[in-house]
Amino acid sequence: GASLKKVIETKQFNAFITVSKNEAEKQAEASLQRFKSKQSKSDLDGVPIAVKDNFCTKDIKTTCASKMLENFSPPYNATVCQRLLDAGAVLVGKTNLDQFAMGSGTVDSIYGPTKNVWKCKADSNDFHIAGGSSGGSAVAVASGVCFGAIGSDTGGSTRNPASYCGVVGLKPTYGLVSRHGLIPLVNSMDVPGILARNVDDVVSILNAVAGHDKQDSTCLTNYCSRLPPANKMGIKGLKIGIPIEYNCEYLSDEVLDMWDEIAQTLQNEGAIVKEVSMPHTQYSIVCYSVLNQCEVASNMARYDGIEYGYRADDDHSTEKLYAVSRRTAFNDIVKNRILTGNYFLLGRNYEKYFNQALKVRRLIMNDFDNVWEDAQLLLTPTTLTEAPLYSDFIQKTNRDQCAFQDFCTQPANMAGIPAVSVPIKLSKNGLPLSLQIMGRNLSEPMLLALAKYIE
Ligand code: GLN
Repeated sequence: GASLKKVIETKQFNAFITVSKNEAEKQAEASLQRFKSKQSKSDLDGVPIAVKDNFCTKDIKTTCASKMLENFSPPYNATVCQRLLDAGAVLVGKTNLDQFAMGSGTVDSIYGPTKNVWKCKADSNDFHIAGGSSGGSAVAVASGVCFGAIGSDTGGSTRNPASYCGVVGLKPTYGLVSRHGLIPLVNSMDVPGILARNVDDVVSILNAVAGHDKQDSTCLTNYCSRLPPANKMGIKGLKIGIPIEYNCEYLSDEVLDMWDEIAQTLQNEGAIVKEVSMPHTQYSIVCYSVLNQCEVASNMARYDGIEYGYRADDDHSTEKLYAVSRRTAFNDIVKNRILTGNYFLLGRNYEKYFNQALKVRRLIMNDFDNVWEDAQLLLTPTTLTEAPLYSDFIQKTNRDQCAFQDFCTQPANMAGIPAVSVPIKLSKNGLPLSLQIMGRNLSEPMLLALAKYIE
């Protein structure tokens, strides 16, 4: 009850699209009864958790922040949601995002932008962005109304807002957590992400949602063990790589200095910290944009206004109905990606763009395979700067550079490896700054242990 009240009170941040008050109250009541009869189901029983609005929730609106799905209530729960409910968690509501998770700001939602909680003045027109696309989930945690939240991560969408909002954000190994019921952006890179105030809370949520699901054919079968709470491990002899290519254009001095400082500290405390090279990092963003647009073109074909989603009034012909429904209900970003993706997939272009991008993706993955010979974990920035001001972020020139926001986060999705963003300190302006740790596939225990060491 108290938590729901807080959710409603923090409306000024626009973190939630839907607050599922009735359902959450019922879940909380059932949890209380279990608690009284000493039958709590797990450490998440009765705990308030928010879910990004691109995960299906049975009979609760799931909009992807788009007019296309404005009135869509799925008939089933995403596996992640079902597992949280099975663990006794209270799902308080659905959080704001960029339309269909395309973006890095949570500024492109039909429900308006989400505001960062840091330095946020309720009466001001300008504010710092929450980052995205899982900005609503990050703010649900950062504002203190939820213990944790579920986001999605295709190119950085969980880690980017976690970094800007000063919470921990985990992108698990691809296939560790089921995508069943997560509305797809790029099937070969999408993973459900976890946001929480600290590493131990992330571990609790990960344990509830991870593990094989026969409804997702890409879900791993060979992982079932529960992670222990991340112990503060000793770091003596731990090999930590600093990939030099992540010191990129637009990286702010403040982030660079902090990266240096933490690397130095880890070295002083016994880790073996050394520079490593990942030469194909520079192609990641361009390669991602080709693969993203191709998969988007294919994934968005399902929205024809017939089975579900927005349907236009124009019924002159079936084609016209499709066209007008899609033209009216998608924003320009979605439309651009569909058009470009279909162009890349034309018979005459397929080899030149899509196939070429797949080859570049392989080179980027090979960089990681090679680097694990020298390093057990990698330490990099998450975002290049502190959270930008909304008025700056939406400037046209900055929008064109938007993809650059994902420079440090995107490669992990190419390779499928786990990565976590950990808040480190506040910038001179009083906004959170974070670093990212990456590890090889299924190295979550070691990754989260180092995260806990530096958090
Ligand atoms: N910013 C990237 C994009 O717009 C990644 C988004 C995501 O991870 N969902 O596609």
